[in-house]
Amino acid sequence: MDKTVILHAVDELFGRELDFLVELVRHPSTRGREQSAQDFIARELGGLGYEVDRWQIDVADIAGLPGFSPVIGDYDDAVNVVGTLRSRSKRGRSLILNGHIDVVPTGPLEMWERAPFHPHIDGDWMGGRGAGDMKAGLASNLFAIEALKHLDLRPAADVFFQSVVEEECTGNGALACLQRGYRADAVLIPEPFAEKLVSSQVGVIWFQVRLKGLPTHVAYAASGANAIEAAIPLFEALHFLERRMNAQECRHHDYAGHSHALNLNIGKIEGGDWASSVPAWCVFDVRMGVFPGQSLDDMRRMIEEAIFDAASNHPFLARNRPEVVYNGFAAEGYSFKDDQSSAARAALTALDRAHSFVVGKPLEYDAITATTDARFFGLYADTPALVYGPRAEAIHGFNERVDLESVRRITQSTALFIADWCGLEEV
Ligand code: ZN
Repeated sequence: MDKTVILHAVDELFGRELDFLVELVRHPSTRGREQSAQDFIARELGGLGYEVDRWQIDVADIAGLPGFSPVIGDYDDAVNVVGTLRSRSKRGRSLILNGHIDVVPTGPLEMWERAPFHPHIDGDWMGGRGAGDMKAGLASNLFAIEALKHLDLRPAADVFFQSVVEEECTGNGALACLQRGYRADAVLIPEPFAEKLVSSQVGVIWFQVRLKGLPTHVAYAASGANAIEAAIPLFEALHFLERRMNAQECRHHDYAGHSHALNLNIGKIEGGDWASSVPAWCVFDVRMGVFPGQSLDDMRRMIEEAIFDAASNHPFLARNRPEVVYNGFAAEGYSFKDDQSSAARAALTALDRAHSFVVGKPLEYDAITATTDARFFGLYADTPALVYGPRAEAIHGFNERVDLESVRRITQSTALFIADWCGLEEV
């Protein structure tokens, strides 16, 4: 098969791909509100000839599995969609094309130049919450296959198109796909990391710290204990731990040159009831990174040590210990680079070949300071997971946007990768 013909097929369908992406970004699929976007995906997949599997995640099914993260809220609205494209010949290697449908909250709307769920194209960019992270990746996955079909070809192995929920807070959507039995010889996840292959990703722990105080009228503040102000030395203790964990000798080899790969973020805080009452409670939520290979239990122990040590120096907290609750991410780090299996090397070679043909340069690598769903496939299903997607800006920020020429190149590389990895058969 002439590779250039495949690239042209992507070009020919690129208008349709952009229409699909615009429509997808219009669905405000924040946590708990993914249903309309998943409906749209399921409808499209059905129309394009996929077998569609759409199911609500049952926490009881996955709670005992490795990689499970404790759940925030209920899963009444947590629905996964998988489209299967079966091969007749099954001569090639099978593939999971994975992407997450959930997007993070927008933050204050007045800080956006345009409404986040009214996608707009401005030159080479498309703006909107989720345009980059990672609805463009869902589009490139789908249209890489469509480009092959446009040429009356299809993968010569089964391909599973996954649109999962929960990537941004637990990863339980991807885990539920494993639990449901979806397996393949490799996985591609087009998260927006600027056309580089993610060689390693950090793990992430979420936890919540709950502090008590002693409420009094502010007129007698000295006789009370301010739960909000008591949090401040705990922040400092946690940031001290963060500095220690980033020290050279603690780093995974892929992060040796990275002075601050593990970020601790105080992401949310609530507390108190009344301006003239000394606050009786304070709750704050924290995210902390861990290196691949580092044990989550060890990190939890160090987190608790840091908090309880700091609390023991506080007159009220010393007698009223803070409570540490783990909810959301319990994600281990994952290094694709450390996977020396022949499957991983073969997948890398195929992707490098595809990327080099499209971009004209060899594939570059990046050890990222965030997590992705790749860990489930890599760590718990013995399946190499390639994270490789378009260039985007301001993901999780205001005015998120994705580079459309980059989306085109990723779609082209993905189509070539599928042709190489799965092989092709006539429709
Ligand atoms: Zn993402």
